[in-house]
Amino acid sequence: MTAPDSSLPPIYDAAATEAAWYPRWTEHGVFTADPARATGPGGREPFVIVIPPPNVTAVLHMGHGLNNTVQDVLIRWRRMAGDEALWVPGTDHAGIATQNVVEKQLAAEGKSRFDLGREPFVQRVAEFVDKTGGEILNQLKSIGASADWTRTAYTFSPELSRAVRETFVRLYEDGLVYRGHRVIHWCPRCGTSLSDEEAEFTDTNGKLYHLRYPLAADPSQGITVATTRPETMLGDVAVAVNPDDERYQAMIGKEVILPLNGVRIPIVGDSYTDPTFGSGAVKITPAHDANDFEVAKRHSLAMPVVIDAEGIVREADGAAGRVPAALAGLDRFEARKAIVNLLDEAGALVKVEHHAHSVRHCYRCDTVVEPRLSDQWFVKMQPLADKALAVLRSGELRILPDRWEAVYVNWLEGIRDWNISRQIWWGHRVPVWYCTASCGHAQIVSRTDVTACPGCGGTVRQDNDVLDTWFSSWLWPISTLGWPDETPDLKAFYPGDVLVTAPEILFFWVARMVMSGCWFLDKAPFHTVYLHGTVRDMQHRKMSKSLGNGIDPLDVVKLYGADALRWTMVAGLGLGVDVMLDPTDLEKSFAPGRNFCTKLWNIGRFLLSRVGTDPVAPLSQLDRDQLAPADRWILERLDQAIADCDAALGPARPSTLAHWSDLERGRGLRLSEYAEAARRFVWNELADWYLESIKPRLAADGTADREVARAVLAHAFDGALRLLHPVVPFITEELWQKLPQTPPGAFLAQAAWPVAGGEYAGDGAAFDLVRESVQAIRQVRAEYNVNPGAWVDAVLVATNDAEALLGPQADTVGALARAKVRVASVNPGGAAAQVLLSGGIELVVPLAGMIDLDKEKQRLDTEIVQLDKQLTALQGRLSNDGFVAKAPAAVVETERAKAADWSSRLAQLRDKRAALGA
Ligand SMILES: [Zn+2]
Ligand SMILES: [Zn+2]
Repeated sequence: MTAPDSSLPPIYDAAATEAAWYPRWTEHGVFTADPARATGPGGREPFVIVIPPPNVTAVLHMGHGLNNTVQDVLIRWRRMAGDEALWVPGTDHAGIATQNVVEKQLAAEGKSRFDLGREPFVQRVAEFVDKTGGEILNQLKSIGASADWTRTAYTFSPELSRAVRETFVRLYEDGLVYRGHRVIHWCPRCGTSLSDEEAEFTDTNGKLYHLRYPLAADPSQGITVATTRPETMLGDVAVAVNPDDERYQAMIGKEVILPLNGVRIPIVGDSYTDPTFGSGAVKITPAHDANDFEVAKRHSLAMPVVIDAEGIVREADGAAGRVPAALAGLDRFEARKAIVNLLDEAGALVKVEHHAHSVRHCYRCDTVVEPRLSDQWFVKMQPLADKALAVLRSGELRILPDRWEAVYVNWLEGIRDWNISRQIWWGHRVPVWYCTASCGHAQIVSRTDVTACPGCGGTVRQDNDVLDTWFSSWLWPISTLGWPDETPDLKAFYPGDVLVTAPEILFFWVARMVMSGCWFLDKAPFHTVYLHGTVRDMQHRKMSKSLGNGIDPLDVVKLYGADALRWTMVAGLGLGVDVMLDPTDLEKSFAPGRNFCTKLWNIGRFLLSRVGTDPVAPLSQLDRDQLAPADRWILERLDQAIADCDAALGPARPSTLAHWSDLERGRGLRLSEYAEAARRFVWNELADWYLESIKPRLAADGTADREVARAVLAHAFDGALRLLHPVVPFITEELWQKLPQTPPGAFLAQAAWPVAGGEYAGDGAAFDLVRESVQAIRQVRAEYNVNPGAWVDAVLVATNDAEALLGPQADTVGALARAKVRVASVNPGGAAAQVLLSGGIELVVPLAGMIDLDKEKQRLDTEIVQLDKQLTALQGRLSNDGFVAKAPAAVVETERAKAADWSSRLAQLRDKRAALGA
């Protein structure tokens, strides 16, 4: 016998294995895709995933851990399945978020960005990003992410910036980018406008203030308005009532006087006003409310600005004489308190009610958003949204879980224009220049920098604003492949396949990528959006820095290895279901992965020590007749495991768009089912049964049968490792390298995904009988408390057919069940335990010699007498009409079920007692 392979340490060393394999994979270009291999006749199917680019300053958290594990499982699976698999990695410059980080550093130095000035500030952010940015990509490597690092992209690189500028200019030329003057969401802390999605709603317990504005002509009369933001009343230009509201019809056209500043404003009729809200009369503050802005436009009203960009109450555009000196300079929330007090003193505060409502907050700093009148750049969204809707409706795009498709449709159908200009400095500057001489070339939109006015040759100045970060992220699937150039990458790898992300950025990012892909390249950038759940703690709270309930994936990798982390997440991952982990107990949280890796290592180590290092014959060279029933069974089980994995993951090949789209909706990408199918094979079938059953054959040195068993074992384990590789890449690579048939220099990461050949279908029947017999003997042993080390006798009473099938397996059954087994055609009789197996086979385990017969008879007699007594009493109660009539129906039902249960148990005990003889 070959010496056991001593190179595998008894305990799996995850750190050493991971440190060894990752650089080997990258040095050999295992993760590098080549467009040349994916094009032309005979070319491979491309399979493309683009990473949701983390913020360049981000630090890896569990959400990234989950997101990137899912992507890596898919990309490794498709790479093995023969696709030209490309996973594009990279980072996002994250305009506001990154600027905020550097502004905080400056604040610690007692400075603001304005102290530095624009150019030096941008320089400082760029240096900060150069020095510390992108570290998250290295962290992704430590969890095994097999991205193509040669294509690492950055939304602010010169190449991707060119795509951004091209997009702006092209959409401007298409009439979809325009300059608009309207009320937008403004973050006074960040000093910028925000898109609808960046101004997130938060449920707030606020107050509704009812204010009375006296009529100018007769101050004894007045009109009451309700508002949640009384500080804006200084900028009111009208009170609006519904023209159909009889209470107010006579007042339309009259004037009221604003308390505090004495400004006279009209009462206007506008059907926008809801007669059932508050008093039915609303104040109109066009510069500080988007709806009021529309009302004011309809009635040609002024739009005075009374709250400035920093959220300070003061007289700004068109507001002269509106802010009393006592209020000027107050922060908007201090001003609210002061104004409420002043109104109360003036008798203008009618009442204050509690009012639960949603208030928009800045998604970057959580400051309450201030609606503000300003000039911004917008994208006209309707034409883009129409295309994004069309691809979903045609089936070119699907979203998993499919309940999100309705959410997607709903958002696109109600879409509003996208404010894309930001008043910050870190980002792509709006490519628009203005002639300083105002010669008529007022606005020059250009792909290249403009240095002089094309009209008068005079000086120009560039627009101060930068573009929304998402205005570059939405191009990610096309810009990372070289668009707007027709690069080989773009030709080979667009459109991609699956986008893996969390539902939070479905609108921010996913829907917009679909829009840009459809608009510029006429195809959705992927056919499947896979939305996974959120990582939460045991109280169902999302893990976050501020709650301190996070888990650092790198801690988990250090403690238990990347594979344990990956397995834990994938095995527990239902589609769209949240992953629950306990940050206070990492050992318990990651036990599934750690235990799995330990078990796989132990199986592999034992198995490899038995297989040894001598060459093994390929299966194709084995004579089919040489295969034992156990061999055929495990080969059939391997085929089944492959089929189960394929069914859970999706079509093995080809991965063409048409093929994927033809899938029944909701099918495929069921990762936990895939992992469980692979685990079941290696654990329950290969290790528990096959490996156990062939131990005697492996020990029979020099026999042909030993070589057959070695070959089948090595082949089955190879199949198992291939199936498991996408989820636990490191440990499987390490074990696979030790298999005797693994070609030198090959990587499991590049090996072929196994194919179910089907040639052993139905061949497992004989060994299934063996397993059934063994389980039956084990059950009898357990029932009679037989010492685990003791051998028992067993007789398999079989018909001719079964006898032929079982006869040669008697030794195998015996070895597995610690029994001296013989096959006979007639029941030997005597005191025995008997079990009926499939095919009419009877298992007879003689009890004489195995147990103390007299003692067992006595025990059974006692048990029978006791149970019989209890049953008789119960039946007596049930035949008592009084009991049945009085007791609740559910109780009677339970008692009847109990009686049925006891009488069948009694029958069993009597049979068992009868088998022991008198
Ligand atoms: Zn903010
Ligand atoms: Zn000019």
